[in-house]
Amino acid sequence: MKNIISITLAFMVLFSFSCKAQKVNYFSNNAFGNPITGNNGEYYKGVTYIAYQGEKEDPYVVAYNHKKKQWIGPYKAGTSLLGKTGSKKIDNHGKPSLVVDGEGYIHIVFGGHGGTKELGENSLGNYNGGKQIHVVSKKPMDISSWVEVDNLTPFGTYSQFLKLDNGDIYLFYRHGAHRSDWVYQISKDNCKTFSPKVSFLKAKQAKPTADCSDVFDSWYPSFEHGKGNDIIVSYNYHVCKNLTPHYGERNNCYYMTFDTDNNKWYNIKGKELKLPVTKEYADEMTLEINTGDKWVHNGTVALNKSGVPHLTFYQGEDDGSTNGGPKQLMNYIYTGKEWTGGATNLPSSARGEIKATSSKGIQFLVGYDQGKSGEVAWWNSTENLNEFAKKQVLINEEGGTFTLANFIRNAHPDAKMVATQKIKGTDYSRIFLLGDKGPVKRLKTEAEVLKLQ
Ligand code: ZN
Repeated sequence: MKNIISITLAFMVLFSFSCKAQKVNYFSNNAFGNPITGNNGEYYKGVTYIAYQGEKEDPYVVAYNHKKKQWIGPYKAGTSLLGKTGSKKIDNHGKPSLVVDGEGYIHIVFGGHGGTKELGENSLGNYNGGKQIHVVSKKPMDISSWVEVDNLTPFGTYSQFLKLDNGDIYLFYRHGAHRSDWVYQISKDNCKTFSPKVSFLKAKQAKPTADCSDVFDSWYPSFEHGKGNDIIVSYNYHVCKNLTPHYGERNNCYYMTFDTDNNKWYNIKGKELKLPVTKEYADEMTLEINTGDKWVHNGTVALNKSGVPHLTFYQGEDDGSTNGGPKQLMNYIYTGKEWTGGATNLPSSARGEIKATSSKGIQFLVGYDQGKSGEVAWWNSTENLNEFAKKQVLINEEGGTFTLANFIRNAHPDAKMVATQKIKGTDYSRIFLLGDKGPVKRLKTEAEVLKLQ
């Protein structure tokens, strides 16, 4: 009897120890390159669905059932043309965007970087590689098998889904490589068909500069859901000079609103806009923050509960390098007449999302370096618009900076954001699902899809 008890106890100790040891903070280790961007997650009927770039730049999808506390996948959802040539450089332009339609089918668009001439004539821009591909799950709420849907142009780059409360699904993308128009298409039938493409930002030949005769106007926008069925767009301008090496200079911050109920676009003052917006027209109608000779990267845009827009972007000096100097998170709020704000006190490596409840109630969810570890935390506004205080740390792990996507659509409180962290010495990253309780954990044996050293 005594023996049985001690053996049972030994097993119990061993079992609880091994259970604890087996859980990890990430849900997969096969995220590849720079694996996530934009709208890559959605919560739908008790399940959070997530898409990311995995091995060989193919799109992978994973799901988490909140009630059963169960992870499903990852499953490969399609095959990208990018990442297959054996070239060591990772393209990273074809990262997947995800949306769940009104019938519960999951759609992914991925793999585009402007396409090639073999795919046809691109009347709205230039070429580079890859192919924009649309896949849909064979069954509603089931990520295990996928079919390709041939209803989009192959030339899309940076494709992003936006879903409105009325069920309409918008797809935004650049129609080619970076001398191409930005367009959108609408689907009102769960992505079975899309409306004709509409150019809203015009890429075109620009005036020669002192150092280059071949210059193009080019754009980098980001999109968010606004009031009702509005879509709000912030963007910067890239002066694209045909120089080697290529300089990634981007300047300014522009803003406009798309009233999708009435199919009209407006500037901040409520003046209706004509599409497509050119550089000259943007400077006249939609330029909100003129950054002069400072270089910027896109941030995000959000409305607070009173409908007041907040803009963020990352700003640094032109230090002569092709990407400009280090960039600091900038925060601006519209007063009704003008934009106020400027550089924040967040860590210089901080990149992430904004949530605004009022003109003073602003929260950033950001990933940044913290000595030898990376951290993701909420930083809340104080009395001063430029000063934020660290509030809640969602995760802190040894290693590099965490990269964040956009907030998950219709997010469950436990699963608001997807973040990735590079695995040292490899091109792979661990990928995490973060919410109010920190990371959603997984058994180590399930999370280690790849056996990495
Ligand atoms: Zn360029």
